[in-house]
Amino acid sequence: MRYCSIEARDREGQPVVERTVIFATIICSHTSNPTVGRFVWNGQAYSLVGASKQRPGSILPDDGARSTKAAFEVSPSYRCPGCGASSYVQCGRCRGLGCWDPTWEMFRCPLCGNAGAVNGTIDRISGLSG
Ligand SMILES: [Zn+2]
Ligand SMILES: [Zn+2]
Repeated sequence: MRYCSIEARDREGQPVVERTVIFATIICSHTSNPTVGRFVWNGQAYSLVGASKQRPGSILPDDGARSTKAAFEVSPSYRCPGCGASSYVQCGRCRGLGCWDPTWEMFRCPLCGNAGAVNGTIDRISGLSG
């Protein structure tokens, strides 16, 4: 798998490499099936542009291998391949990502069962190290 990368500089002036595309596992809240979300850097945030169902034998992103700290948002074109939800949230307990639709008042984490109202924003996820 290949990644394009751009160079940016942090506050101290040290060069840091921003990956323009990252992948992370998103579990469908309805089917509990894992999907692979594709996040594309848009200059300000990683935007979730789409997700694909796992094919048998394919490798899930190695969660925890690398943590990416940035702003995260969702593209209007994203739909969960499992249930059609148009967004996603990160569980406040297990940090897993689950699909979510703004019409749902509550989010129930398909990984750990934690449930609650959705608030806040995502600023860090664990994704594929490449
Ligand atoms: Zn779903
Ligand atoms: Zn959870």
